[in-house]
Amino acid sequence: MLGLAKRTGARIFQASTSEVYGDPEVHPQPESYWGKVNPVGPRSCYDEGKRCAETLFFDYRRQHNLNIKVARIFNTYGPRMHPNDGRVVSNFIVQALKGEPITLYGDGTQTRSFCYVDDLIEGFVRLMRMPGDFTGPVNLGNPGEFTMIELAERVKDLTGSQSELTYEPLPTDDPKQRQPDIQLANAAMGWEPTVGLIEGLEHTIAYFEQLLAR
Ligand code: UDP
Repeated sequence: MLGLAKRTGARIFQASTSEVYGDPEVHPQPESYWGKVNPVGPRSCYDEGKRCAETLFFDYRRQHNLNIKVARIFNTYGPRMHPNDGRVVSNFIVQALKGEPITLYGDGTQTRSFCYVDDLIEGFVRLMRMPGDFTGPVNLGNPGEFTMIELAERVKDLTGSQSELTYEPLPTDDPKQRQPDIQLANAAMGWEPTVGLIEGLEHTIAYFEQLLAR
């Protein structure tokens, strides 16, 4: 893809990830933080793959002056998620709507910061419209940070579900906390999220209600 962008003179976008920060020791995570990634664990293929992709993008930038745009995407959710993709927001909503136990991994005190999909897309559009000298990496995410227990409780409240909370083992190398520092996106692109967790969950729950009713 980088070779194709070079040949055609295209701008090229890298959908990178907050996983480049691994299980971070700096909180919240600014783009300048190099991360704490286990190179040989079960998540490493994804984390290191994305880190390597960023490296290749910046090598092409240095060698060929390619117009690259690198966004580090933090946890994102919204309508059209796949009900079985295993991520926490879709899992909890589907479980709550079906009255099944809500599966908390570990003790549920780990945190994530959830960005509604429309806000993320707005960030992509602004990034692609930035001048060529703005390459990123730039964090895109919502700094509102919640524990998984808080998320489960909000999903239960909003769905009116009677589902119980159950506890399952924490996956290996599951990051304990994650929150984007979005000062760069805000200063350079005038971007910040506008949809809070409750509103975003309402839209997402409505989507899954329709999907499950089919
Ligand atoms: N998680 C959970 N129950 C689930 C699915 C995920 O408690 O049914 C936890 C998971 O261990 C992690 C957090 O929710 O701490 C976010 O998981 P997800 O896979 O959505 O995103 P990521 O770990 O990539 O940030």
